[in-house]
Amino acid sequence: MAEPTEFPHIKLLNWFKHHARSLPWRKEYRPYDIVMSEMMLQQTQMVTALPYFERWTQRWPNWESLASASEDEVLGMWEGLGYYQRARRLLKLAQVIVNEHGGTLPSNEAQLIQLPGLGPYTTAAISAIAFNQVAFPIDGNVRRVLSRFCSDATLSPSRLQDERFEKLMLPSFKSTQNKRGLAQAMMELGALVCSPKKPQCDTCPLQRDCSCASPEKAILFPVKKTKAKIKPLTVCYVWVLTPKGIPLRQRPNNGRFPSQWEPVVIETDSEKNATEHIEGKLRSSDIIWKPTFIRNFTQFKVTWKEGFLPMSKTNLFKNYEFFQPDELKKLNLVPVMAKTWNLHQAEFI
Ligand code: SF4
Repeated sequence: MAEPTEFPHIKLLNWFKHHARSLPWRKEYRPYDIVMSEMMLQQTQMVTALPYFERWTQRWPNWESLASASEDEVLGMWEGLGYYQRARRLLKLAQVIVNEHGGTLPSNEAQLIQLPGLGPYTTAAISAIAFNQVAFPIDGNVRRVLSRFCSDATLSPSRLQDERFEKLMLPSFKSTQNKRGLAQAMMELGALVCSPKKPQCDTCPLQRDCSCASPEKAILFPVKKTKAKIKPLTVCYVWVLTPKGIPLRQRPNNGRFPSQWEPVVIETDSEKNATEHIEGKLRSSDIIWKPTFIRNFTQFKVTWKEGFLPMSKTNLFKNYEFFQPDELKKLNLVPVMAKTWNLHQAEFI
């Protein structure tokens, strides 16, 4: 099927009318309820969040009552939902709304985003669902539905992908009076029909227009970014103390630590190999080793092993320059090496 350029929002709205779950905040669409539900549903399943929503809104039915609660009370009511920062943010939000906005949540998206604890997604969800405005909240469910609907192979999630979806959906949001219904219908379809592992394409209102249209094809989307594998790396470096000074060399101007200075070093995937190699390179097993330590980088888990070696020979270091110990502080050394040098050099100099 050709790439869809229009979204069949009327079919989706009809489906939503008949299949929407009955949820407490959908009775009146009070802005207070919508904010509470959106915050509770972040990182939390609907079935878990529902009883919390009921208890919370009975105890604090509006901004004023919530604003006068104590942090201890709020955290106690939140207990078991996790990510407690959300509860603190709701309390702070209630206080700002009462103290600075006369107890009324602003309906303007530009004002909403300025409020504490509301990010771009929550702001869009509140604008659409509470205030029925043109705003498009893209959560994981919506992203899945649309990446399947368009067979979008962009690595997901990405800004590029979201922009594409916004462009596709904007005419639908502008043309319908029921913007809150459309925003919720997208989420609901993702939760109930276009599910991650078992999409029910045969009962889906979008099937005739969807470029996947079958579970076999649908489960290939969204195309997820694969996490880079973390590789082990041991960096063994030795400060060789010769009568001429300490041999150092500059790293290449690309790759890790570009153009920074380092002593004699071996990098391998295991500590044992690194030690053996560097002892072979320096033709000595008299290296005095300091305790190893580990630092994690994006693609590597690096074990750093530092050694010191007093040595009278200087002919092993053809591509190195020699520096006196007090000159090292002026050099741009690899930061970890500079740090350990400063920590341990006094024992040897
Ligand atoms: Fe998802 Fe299938 Fe519906 Fe397409 S037809 S939106 S893949 S459930």
